[in-house]
Amino acid sequence: MAEPAPPVPADHLLGVYNRAPLAFERGEGARLYTASGEAYLDCLAGIATTGLGHAHPKLVEALKTQGEKLWHVSNIFRIPDQERLAGRLCAETFADVVFFTNSGTEAVECALKMARKYHWARGEADRIEVIGFDGAFHGRSYAAVYAAGNPAYVEGFGPPLPGYRTLKFGDHEALKAAIGPTTAAVILEPVQGEGGARALPESCLTALRQLTREHGVLLILDEIQSGLGRTGRLFAHEWAHDAAPDIMCVAKALGGGFPVGACLATSEAASGMGVGAHGSTYGGNPLAMAVGLAAVEELTRPETLEHVRRLSGLFSQSLAALQSRFPDIIEEVRGKGLLIGLKLIPSNRAFMAAARDQHLLIAGGGDNCVRLLPPLIMSEDEAREAIARLEATCEAMRAEAAA
Ligand SMILES: *Cc1c(COP(=O)(O)O)cnc(C)c1O
Repeated sequence: MAEPAPPVPADHLLGVYNRAPLAFERGEGARLYTASGEAYLDCLAGIATTGLGHAHPKLVEALKTQGEKLWHVSNIFRIPDQERLAGRLCAETFADVVFFTNSGTEAVECALKMARKYHWARGEADRIEVIGFDGAFHGRSYAAVYAAGNPAYVEGFGPPLPGYRTLKFGDHEALKAAIGPTTAAVILEPVQGEGGARALPESCLTALRQLTREHGVLLILDEIQSGLGRTGRLFAHEWAHDAAPDIMCVAKALGGGFPVGACLATSEAASGMGVGAHGSTYGGNPLAMAVGLAAVEELTRPETLEHVRRLSGLFSQSLAALQSRFPDIIEEVRGKGLLIGLKLIPSNRAFMAAARDQHLLIAGGGDNCVRLLPPLIMSEDEAREAIARLEATCEAMRAEAAA
């Protein structure tokens, strides 16, 4: 069903997005509503960002309460909630220290600077090389696009940033050959998101961690999409044995839709970052921290993670059944937890539009995938409804191919 065009003309916006012809006015849990009151089932959650669904009462309460007290003071003062949230994140992870940002890209930027500075401060100024993997996505800053190496995202932006290399995702031998005395860091997503929900096998992550350790190379995990409960553990690398990184980037679900990111590190990895080495005007301001604290409180509850694992079992069973009924549409079901990819035979963009016709919202992805990224709090009934709407989407795609 076509939605009327939004009343505000879009032609003054920089044309960097291929937007769906759809606008929403409000949301609640796993539902989004247009201005005319039409409901859509949200299986993309702002790209794994509204992990707790829309208008979660605890997050709304945190934002309102803080909004009436204090918005912003600058990092030249102590911000007690920042200290609290950092303490909370460190208690839940390998990390000792946290730097707060406003986005995922900025968390990646901090991680990359931190890695080089670590070696520099130890007298190894030549250790500048950062190794990333194909299919990765780390955001849109200069450093982030080179860390991911996606040619489409670096093209036309001038001479390449020195010191970045891209290897094949999951190719341990290539990494073994490439890693050496000039390598500063290896950066990867334990489960690639934008690349099309590609999970690195757990044993590979363990081996990669071992290899970086042997060479004195820092491991940066980008858990911006895979982290904070998305895979059924608080962080995706926790599924693998002994795979804790030196530095980890977090964002998206951390603010549940409020812009906030974080770069977490061991005190060793962060040891080069003294006073003046980095900073941010907004990063970690009181509004963001109030929401972040409330979100982390909910995301770390054992019941939240148990629910994700149950939901993930339900999705993986139903999607396997769907794939065997529609092998002409779905080539492969992949991913981990609720970071689910369907590799398609027809075009993913056509499939996303057909799903929208069924009032189901899903995300695109590389490798001709669509991603299902439901809010972690989606009910089992809503999950079954999502599957039914996907089934109707597959039927429609099949009918169209036959016509
Ligand atoms: C979304 C994402 C980013 C970039 O985050 P922004 O908030 O858009 O800057 C980086 N890495 C991964 C894995 C992501 O999914």
